[in-house]
Amino acid sequence: MKTKAVVEGEGYVVNGQKCFISQADVAHLMLLFARTSEGKGTRDISAFMVELDPENGTPGYQVVRAERKMSMRAVHTCQIVLDDLRLPASAILGREGQGFYLAMKTLDESRLPVAAQGVGIAQGALEIAADYAQQRVQFGSPISAFQGIQFMIADMATQVEAARQLTYMAASHYEQGGPRVTMYSAMAKLLSSDTAMKVTTDAVQVLGGCGFTQEFPAERLMRDAKATQIYEGTNQIQRIIIARRYMGGGG
Ligand SMILES: Cc1cc2nc3c(=O)[nH]c(=O)nc-3n(C[C@H](O)[C@H](O)[C@H](O)COP(=O)(O)OP(=O)(O)OC[C@H]3O[C@@H](n4cnc5c(N)ncnc54)[C@H](O)[C@@H]3O)c2cc1C
Repeated sequence: MKTKAVVEGEGYVVNGQKCFISQADVAHLMLLFARTSEGKGTRDISAFMVELDPENGTPGYQVVRAERKMSMRAVHTCQIVLDDLRLPASAILGREGQGFYLAMKTLDESRLPVAAQGVGIAQGALEIAADYAQQRVQFGSPISAFQGIQFMIADMATQVEAARQLTYMAASHYEQGGPRVTMYSAMAKLLSSDTAMKVTTDAVQVLGGCGFTQEFPAERLMRDAKATQIYEGTNQIQRIIIARRYMGGGG
C-alpha cells in the first residue's frame, strides 16, 4: 500500500492512487486505507471514512478509468487518483494504526455476501439447466431422461445445497460472535465461489450449443461466477487463511 495520509493542520492530506475500486464514480461514502506512518508494519495503516460528492465533484478526488470487465459491467470498477485530498480529523475510523485490524475484521463480514452471491449464481444456473433439460428433446426423449444429464443435475443440486448450508452456518457464526469466524467466513467464500464456477460451467454444458450463446443467461452466470473466485481475496488467499487458522487453532 502506497497511498499516504499526512497530518496537516486539523486534519489529513491524502495522496496516492487506487485501482479496482467498485462504484468509485457514484459513491457518496468511501472506506479508504492509507499509510499514516512508516516502519511499524501493519500498524502503519489507518482507515478513513471519506465523504464524496459524485454529482458536483470532490476536490482532490478523481476517477480516471472504469475497467472493461469480463462481466458484472453494471457495477463500475474504477481507478482513482487522490491528489491532496483533504480530510477532517474526524474522518479517521478508530485510531491511527488500526486500519489493518479493521480491514481484516471487515473481510470476515464482507466475504459472507460474496459467499451468498456464489450460492445465488449457482442456484440460478441450476434452475436454468434443469428447466432446459426437461424441455429439450433429443433422440426422442427430453434430455432430462438421460442418466448422463441426471447425474450432472444431481451433482449440481448437491453442491449448491452444500455451499448454501456452509454460508448459513458461517453467517450464523458471525452473528453470534463465534471464535472461528475468520476461518468459516473464508471457507464459505471459497466453497460457494468454486461451486458457482463449477455449476455454471456445467449449466452451459447441459444447454449444449445454446449454452454457448448470449440468447441464454447461462454463459453470463459463468462469467459472473469467475469474479467471485477473485474479489474479497482470491481463493488461493482463502486457502492460506483456512490452513493457517485450522492448524494454528485460532479463530
Ligand atoms: C470486479 C472486481 C471488483 C473489485 N472491487 C474492489 C474494491 O471495491 N475495492 C478494492 O480494494 N478492491 C477491489 N477489487 C480488487 C480485488 O480485491 C483484487 O483483485 C483481489 O484481492 C486480488 O488481488 P490482485 O488483483 O492484486 O491479484 P494478485 O495478488 O496479483 O494475485 C494474482 C494471482 O496470484 C495468486 N497469489 C497471490 N498471492 C499469493 C500467495 N501468497 N499464495 C498463492 N497464490 C497467490 C492469486 O491468488 C492470483 O491467482 C476488485 C476486483 C474485481 C475483479
